[in-house]
Amino acid sequence: MPIARRKSVPVRIGSVWVGGEHPIVVQSMTNTDTADTAGTVNQTIALARAGSELVRVTVNNDEAAQAVPRIVDTLRSFGVDVPIVGDFHYNGHLLLKRYPDCARALSKYRINPGNVDIGKKEDDNFRTMIDCAIEYDRPVRIGVNWGSLDQRLLTRLMDENAARPAPKPAEQVMRDAIVVSALHSAESAERFGLAHDKIILSAKVSNVQDLVAVYEDLAPRCDYPLHLGLTEAGMGMKGIVASTAALSILLQQGIGDTIRVSLTPQPGGDRTEEVRACQQILQSLDIRSFTPQVTACPGCGRTTSTFFQEMAEQIETYLREQMPVWKTQYTGVEELKVAVMGCIVNGPGESKHANIGISLPGTFEEPKAPVYVDGRLLRTLKGDGIVPEFITILDDYVATRYGAALVEA
Ligand code: SF4
Repeated sequence: MPIARRKSVPVRIGSVWVGGEHPIVVQSMTNTDTADTAGTVNQTIALARAGSELVRVTVNNDEAAQAVPRIVDTLRSFGVDVPIVGDFHYNGHLLLKRYPDCARALSKYRINPGNVDIGKKEDDNFRTMIDCAIEYDRPVRIGVNWGSLDQRLLTRLMDENAARPAPKPAEQVMRDAIVVSALHSAESAERFGLAHDKIILSAKVSNVQDLVAVYEDLAPRCDYPLHLGLTEAGMGMKGIVASTAALSILLQQGIGDTIRVSLTPQPGGDRTEEVRACQQILQSLDIRSFTPQVTACPGCGRTTSTFFQEMAEQIETYLREQMPVWKTQYTGVEELKVAVMGCIVNGPGESKHANIGISLPGTFEEPKAPVYVDGRLLRTLKGDGIVPEFITILDDYVATRYGAALVEA
């Protein structure tokens, strides 16, 4: 059953729409020095090719701001049209004014109300950024982060809370401050003239339960599209699991219009991992499909050889390598389900639930591997050629099923 999405006003970011009925958008952020044009272009291309539909770059100084138009021009010359979002802290008001080409080249500005001196001098700096967004007709994301929360606002709410007959716990006041900061900043932006449909909100924290509580509070109080992400999620498995836990709870409630998984990569690691993590979260929840899925059993004492693990990996790699071509030729192929199972216990049953499944022989079983297609036994494979023969069956299935879909469409 499809998940009912929270209603939000769609916002256009270059060629991409966020919110409303539009699919939940996957986004990521570079970790190159933005002033390094070649490095930033290369990483942006990698992120875009992996499926990032928006890419954010930090714009932290003059050199970065000067590089942005070159980066965007180079991307477009390579045929990469992913919208580039500028991430501003402290000096965005100066850089956007000083470098109009940068302001024009960016498709969206991220403003952190915690460090743009909102509340000071009648919000001059914040207002300058909003004026630029209006002048260049760009949307903004008002991105609150509890690591850089507006301290003046937090202090005021803490003082008000302390004066209550029954004060709330400090962590609740902190969560309130995050939500209030986002909503008040959006109100100010509109008061300064920015259109309602030019605003996206985010309110990121690094703890799963806090993130869920903050977004559950924020979501019903506005109709701006919401960007979800567990900030500073951490490295590797911890970061992926924590992000998945947090985002899944919210997405299942229909909260969230765009997501990022903020992974700390290994030194020299692959930045595109965060894009694949976003896609896998959305696909696991049946919200969007990006790539064929391989169901494989974990193996047990019935599979003492590593053959079936190797085969599952080979099939997954094969599918991933084919997808850039397949997705241009075969409509709907990203919904393909393949099963690679280790023995007779769950092998035939799971294989029948997939589009194509193979049930390999467990230890002491007869060395034969039945292949099921759309729930029916197609053939039984034996011997050394099981993997290539299975791949041939897979290719034929994809061409027949999804090629036909293309012709019919
Ligand atoms: S399908 Fe067979 S090999 Fe795989 S986990 Fe189940 S019992 Fe073990």
